[in-house]
Amino acid sequence: MTPVQTEFNSQVTLLPHLPQIVPGEVCAQCDVCCRFPESDSFLRPYFTRDEIREAVSLGLSPALFDDPAGAQIALVNDPAGDGYHCPAFDPESAQCGIYQRRPLDCQLYPLALMWNEAGDQIVLGWDTKCPFMREARSSEIRVHRERVQQLLGEESALRVLEAHPRLIGRYQDDVVVLAPLPEVTRRVWAHQPDRRLQPLRLADAPMMAAALRASGSPVREPLAAFAFPYHYVWTTTLPHRWMEQNGVYFLFAQSPDGWFMPVPPFGAGVFVEAVREGFALMRQWNGASPVSRIENLTDSQKNGLDARTYHFSNKNPDYLYRAEALANLAGDRYKSQRALCNRVEREQPVTFESYRSPDHHQGCRSLYRRWAGQKQAARLDQMGQWLLEDAEAAHEIAWSWGERLGLLGTIAMVRDQIAAYTFGYWLTPTTYAVLFEVADRSMPGLAQALFRQTCRTALRNGAEWINAMDDAGLPGLQKAKQAYHPTTMVKSWIASAD
Ligand code: SF4
Repeated sequence: MTPVQTEFNSQVTLLPHLPQIVPGEVCAQCDVCCRFPESDSFLRPYFTRDEIREAVSLGLSPALFDDPAGAQIALVNDPAGDGYHCPAFDPESAQCGIYQRRPLDCQLYPLALMWNEAGDQIVLGWDTKCPFMREARSSEIRVHRERVQQLLGEESALRVLEAHPRLIGRYQDDVVVLAPLPEVTRRVWAHQPDRRLQPLRLADAPMMAAALRASGSPVREPLAAFAFPYHYVWTTTLPHRWMEQNGVYFLFAQSPDGWFMPVPPFGAGVFVEAVREGFALMRQWNGASPVSRIENLTDSQKNGLDARTYHFSNKNPDYLYRAEALANLAGDRYKSQRALCNRVEREQPVTFESYRSPDHHQGCRSLYRRWAGQKQAARLDQMGQWLLEDAEAAHEIAWSWGERLGLLGTIAMVRDQIAAYTFGYWLTPTTYAVLFEVADRSMPGLAQALFRQTCRTALRNGAEWINAMDDAGLPGLQKAKQAYHPTTMVKSWIASAD
């Protein structure tokens, strides 16, 4: 099969490449693989987060995946009117257009990972739907199975399988069980300390929004963390899981040290009891580790908790501004920002427009890499370096899935090139939160002009307040945010317990 030549994204996690038992010429003659009778077939290949990024960079549309964190690909109609096929499959040549980078799910086939009939053990089997396997010698299948089993036992593969349990299919009686995989089973269970936990997916946004509304947050104290996109974009760095219990919504994130709650529990239940329950769960999963904590408690939530039971530490507060002040930049106190906006308008032919996917996707990606290079050249401190490394995957979600996340984007064009972009969301009906901002650093004033433009648009659409998030403890960012004269610093606390 023909490999696709492309720029390879070095950030994608490399898995051991699995050997293939079926010769290419046999595959080319067969019409089983990559084609499906129903559009929602449960046998559609599952792509992990990295595999989706890879497939998108190879030209597949992000719209084919209903969740960037991992999803089965959407199928397309077969041109001959005969069912459906994978969009990466070319029916004329009978070849996979991403063969060298096809997902683990496809690499495995005609072997398959599935739960055993009792549902308590993950097993490796072979699919009797593959005609080649029906003819293959058992010694040949055994040698192949041993090689694949060994590769699936490697740490990189175990990490992918524990993070993507959907790669393990349900029991199928036409798949012949070859071997149990006890280590894979152990890792998948260990990664899921409680069966009630669900991975945070795009489709979960309405449930979290409803829980936030029921708890009255974030209207009273508009912390940017009280919104789904704020957390979802960072699932690229830390796996997030949620559960709902007695009307209370709990969100957990898994760091290398253990589980913590990036936001307090939300919902209609009694807050004090929900916090107690959250800590009880984390203690159960983390033991006595100090990693157990609840982040982004508001001042009033903190004040409602017993200071003898919990310890509180300050988290960096959010900067809250009057939208009108930032849209106009009037008066002496905004003199320097106004001068910078005037300068860029004098020196560059800047125009602003709304972000559109996929038209602006590649332009934003190129700008991000240029901008990251400029920041690195300016000698970032270690913290800034880490943030930059994590951020590209989060921005990728905004470029590809921003609309479905409820993100609004604006780009600044200079000479037919994207020179700056921003994404944000409505935190409350009158508070707009700015999530990301990237501007070419070689154009002084561009970042300020884009920020003013964002505030003008938000003001026109009913914003009274702009939340510019916190400063992550970075002195440069703190100075820049202070220079816009915040009206309020929205306090935020971290609670821990003995
Ligand atoms: S990704 Fe390639 S190998 Fe996998 S189903 Fe699609 S066309 Fe077939």
